[in-house]
Amino acid sequence: MSAPRIAIIGAGPGGLTLACILRRNGMQCNVFELDHDRSARDQGGIVDLHREMGQLALREAGLFEDFQKHSLPAAEAMKLVKSDGRVFWDENDASRGETGLPGDRPEIDRAKLRDILLDSIQPDSIQWNRKLVRVEPTEGANVKYNLHFTDGMEVGFDLVVGADGAWSKVRPLLTDELPFYSGITVIELKASEVSTKKQWLADFTGQGSCFMFDEGRTLVCQRNGNDSIRVYAAVRQPETWVKDCGIDWDQSNAAQNIFTERYFGDCHDDLKRVIAVEASDGLIPRTLWMLPIGLKRSPRPGVTLLGDAAHLMTPFAGVGVNVALADALDLARSLLKRKSLFETDLRANLADALREYEGPMFERANENMVKTWGGLRHHFSAGGIDERVERLRGRAKLREAARRREEAEMREKAKQ
Ligand SMILES: Cc1cc2nc3c(=O)[nH]c(=O)nc-3n(C[C@H](O)[C@H](O)[C@H](O)COP(=O)(O)OP(=O)(O)OC[C@H]3O[C@@H](n4cnc5c(N)ncnc54)[C@H](O)[C@@H]3O)c2cc1C
Repeated sequence: MSAPRIAIIGAGPGGLTLACILRRNGMQCNVFELDHDRSARDQGGIVDLHREMGQLALREAGLFEDFQKHSLPAAEAMKLVKSDGRVFWDENDASRGETGLPGDRPEIDRAKLRDILLDSIQPDSIQWNRKLVRVEPTEGANVKYNLHFTDGMEVGFDLVVGADGAWSKVRPLLTDELPFYSGITVIELKASEVSTKKQWLADFTGQGSCFMFDEGRTLVCQRNGNDSIRVYAAVRQPETWVKDCGIDWDQSNAAQNIFTERYFGDCHDDLKRVIAVEASDGLIPRTLWMLPIGLKRSPRPGVTLLGDAAHLMTPFAGVGVNVALADALDLARSLLKRKSLFETDLRANLADALREYEGPMFERANENMVKTWGGLRHHFSAGGIDERVERLRGRAKLREAARRREEAEMREKAKQ
């Protein structure tokens, strides 16, 4: 018996973080990714990394300083608007006294996060342009896994980690459950070079994110790192709405106008301007899918999941990347703890490692899926902005109380 042969399917934030932590601690693994190369695809907008999940995993990967260097703390600023244009909360406006939690959950561009992770692993540990089709267990007691790709096979893995996102090809080995449509479709729009070409949108959005929640619809404008702003105009509509609604999404300017008038027509002119006019540099309709909370599964030695492959959820609590990174950290720890034991009994120790990892992982997933479901409800309800303002006020009070306590303690110490 020897060290396990590990295959990680998917070079998203989850798979790459696992690869980084394992490799940094002397455990070999191979990552297989369907993209042709690192720049094959737009990686999307920004994500905030929480101290106890995403940030912790990056610390363990030795990448926290890189993350800090590229993070965008100002992008935490939040502005909340109602459909009639009234501003109910604005952390960009110091005169309102509404402060967030600076430094607690800094944002980073997803592309930058992926670059940091990719730069830290050896180029030979990742195989691009490898699209997994299925995983096949071998016969007999000493089961191994063969990977079937569109362009051939890789054989003899002891552990296969499905970090391959929503439509995982590894997941079918553990469960028959499939993602289902969440009821929400997002029209993702983009504005580039905002500081020179889209000053109005830049001012409207502020330094971070601007949200409008309403019954059946949501609008989010978000600063990104490369002088761009992404706009997410989301609506509660049936699964086939994108193709059935009669809007030709390829004609993006016309589509934006029709979409705005039909679904946001009674909103304040500023909100309509954001969707119809300002965010004119890219349009992608996205149907949002999710896995059931409390996924039914049968554990299998040598196969596991992490991130969206294990617990796909909608983005309405902003935790998906964080949970994926926390999974990667826990799985890496569980494997590394047994590194010296794999020599003596590979199979039993792999089974122990997966048992130790999967229980808490699915528990954390369920907690965050419940939170996300609540987030979806309030993003698409008429009272959503009021609920969010209440929550932020509560948070600000706690923060203020903590600050006062700290000051009092300092004064006490100074007296002694
Ligand atoms: C619009 C939107 C906004 C979001 N905003 C946030 C946010 O603000 N904060 C947050 O924390 N989360 C957010 N999320 C969620 C977040 O994007 C995901 O939870 C996160 O990317 C999951 O990481 P992952 O590594 O598990 O999977 P993914 O990021 O999906 O990565 C999977 C990788 O596997 C590859 N792959 C897929 N299939 C195969 C195959 N068959 N063979 C080989 N490779 C394959 C893919 O190309 C990809 O590189 C958002 C999601 C959406 C859709």
